[in-house]
Amino acid sequence: MLSRLMSVLFLLGSGTSAVAVADIARPSVDSDWQQGAVLRGQLAKGEKLYFLEREVPVSEDGHFVLGLGRDFPETARLKVVDETGQSVVFTYPVKQRKYNIQKVEGVPARTVNPDPKDLQRIRRESAQTAAARKVISERQDFRQSFQWPLLGRISGVYGSQRYYNGEPRRPHFGVDVARPTGTPVAAPVDGIVRLAHKDMFYSGGTLILDHGQGLSSTFLHLSKVLVEEGQEVKQGELIAEVGATGRATGPHLDWRMNWFDQRVDPQLLVPPMSEAESQAKTAGQ
Ligand SMILES: [Zn+2]
Repeated sequence: MLSRLMSVLFLLGSGTSAVAVADIARPSVDSDWQQGAVLRGQLAKGEKLYFLEREVPVSEDGHFVLGLGRDFPETARLKVVDETGQSVVFTYPVKQRKYNIQKVEGVPARTVNPDPKDLQRIRRESAQTAAARKVISERQDFRQSFQWPLLGRISGVYGSQRYYNGEPRRPHFGVDVARPTGTPVAAPVDGIVRLAHKDMFYSGGTLILDHGQGLSSTFLHLSKVLVEEGQEVKQGELIAEVGATGRATGPHLDWRMNWFDQRVDPQLLVPPMSEAESQAKTAGQ
């Protein structure tokens, strides 16, 4: 009722000439609107959804998923269009997170830039990963509850960033789990392999799983990739082994997630590591 009233107010306030007020309910999602979030929800039959200037993939029965990037602004807008073409824009406040920022002073200036040959390779590889994440498939694996791909000490978190002598470095977008080379990595939910690369310049052994409607997982620095492009995998299935390939300082799994080009926080989808570890113990693993 309240959301209906707000829709009316929005239509009046925005000076729209529509006479009839669209009978469109405010979409609700399964988790908090915060930076890095993955949000899953359902629309009424026949409705279309627009977010960040794009039409959001919606399944036949109305299921959708959205992602909010690391620096997402304070307000998100969802536009819902019904079968008759009437539309309502709903706004949602987005919680701004505080990331782990480290300032390091007095470091020798970095003068090492990749040589032109490496640069060509880097560009080619980043185009490959971008293409893999652009795929819009009708899969709905994103509706399952996510599991950690492996258990272990978390050695890096989403969003963290270092400044060297006041110069910002690229933020860290994954969650890192430190485990020895060869530790098995399992699929967090079902998916289809969109990229299986043995050795990329920065990320080494790299695997991208498509979980449907724009949501994907990327696993980096793998010593072994055990699946092939186009292969479907089930939750819990072994897909790779931990490594330190590419530009990594030691063996760990770096798990990243994207909703198209929005980089989201995998840790918001899984239970706390301590909980997952004690559950595994109880299960006798
Ligand atoms: Zn990492």
